[in-house]
Amino acid sequence: MNEKELMAQADENIMNTYKRFPIVLVKGLGQKVWDVNGKEYLDFVAGIAVCSLGHCHPRVVAALKEQADKLFHVSNLYYIEPQARLAKMLVDNSFADKVFFCNSGAEANEAAIKLARKYAHENLGDDKFELITMKDSFHGRTMATITATGQEKFQFGFTPLLEGFTYVPFNDLSALEAAINKKTCGIMLEPIQGEGGVNIPDVQYLAKVREMCDRHNILLIVDEVQTGVGRTGKLFAYEHSGIKPDIMTLAKALGNGFPVGAMLATNKIAQAFSPGNHASTFGGNPLAMAAANATLKTILEEGLLDVCRERGEYFLAALKKLQTRHKIIQEVRGMGLMIACSLTIEGGDIVKECLKKGVLINCTGGKTLRFVPPLIISTQDVDQVINILNEVMEGK
Ligand SMILES: *Cc1c(COP(=O)(O)O)cnc(C)c1O
Repeated sequence: MNEKELMAQADENIMNTYKRFPIVLVKGLGQKVWDVNGKEYLDFVAGIAVCSLGHCHPRVVAALKEQADKLFHVSNLYYIEPQARLAKMLVDNSFADKVFFCNSGAEANEAAIKLARKYAHENLGDDKFELITMKDSFHGRTMATITATGQEKFQFGFTPLLEGFTYVPFNDLSALEAAINKKTCGIMLEPIQGEGGVNIPDVQYLAKVREMCDRHNILLIVDEVQTGVGRTGKLFAYEHSGIKPDIMTLAKALGNGFPVGAMLATNKIAQAFSPGNHASTFGGNPLAMAAANATLKTILEEGLLDVCRERGEYFLAALKKLQTRHKIIQEVRGMGLMIACSLTIEGGDIVKECLKKGVLINCTGGKTLRFVPPLIISTQDVDQVINILNEVMEGK
């Protein structure tokens, strides 16, 4: 079957939920991927902030192969060895005391919403169930998480939504303060909004939100599905603010491409869950745990947070220089290797032309180019992407 036939067959049999680029990727190594014709691409999407160690990282591959020979799946009816190890590593390296494992970002956020409600019912009163979330946020595609997501385009056609959510503009403390009422049980936000366009709040914002939560005795839930596990140059983005959340969710980079999610909380909050309250058949599956253990260990042991910060600064400076040459670049912003470039024009054509020239980048919200490459990229990789962007933007 050739490339065209494969794409036609996929379109015939797979539900029409994705707009795909017409290439078939079959192989990856480090920051590079290859299509079925052998064409090479430099991958600055990394599966949307997932493959932070690069594709087929030897330590993750070895861990998965070893686990595949031992045990694929049992059930959370029993203790699972690599689950215990990963939970300890996450607890040792974060604010949290307890972890719940699941399989995706949406599922982690579902678990967080359920835990917040359960905690509030038991500790704050039955009339406290409302969560305040942010406009332009993104929390996933399940019914609860599209409700939490403050963007109508993800909710359109799926009403009625879940009860108990209100939305305020991101990075607006007075709007947030004004939205808190006697029904509020918590605030849920991304430390940096990813899907919404890499929106970075003021330096003091998250600390002020923490203060507000303490003052009103409500919970702070941080969705670090995209920012977590090293993406912003710290293991978790909340660390930049010197605060501790009550609940945090992780997924994307946690398994370097193996599906895995996690919801973490302090003991005080986590005690609201008891056996039977929440579960997932695949959550904490041995293969997923093997991949995540290897990923987290590699990030911590190989100094990749420093590499991320350093390459991020290099990339950001290069984009700012590019901005002086192209008036379609409105703003350049980023933290670590979560970087964006907002344009005065639609970014779709730029993404397509980069793809033709062998570079994968992503466009979010129509006019924002988003760069979330593997944390292992070199300065030469950055130079290559900048050169190609320069060519592509010429005359636009
Ligand atoms: C990607 C993302 C999600 C959803 O994760 P899925 O694994 O696709 O369910 C949730 N929150 C944020 C911040 C994300 O970037």
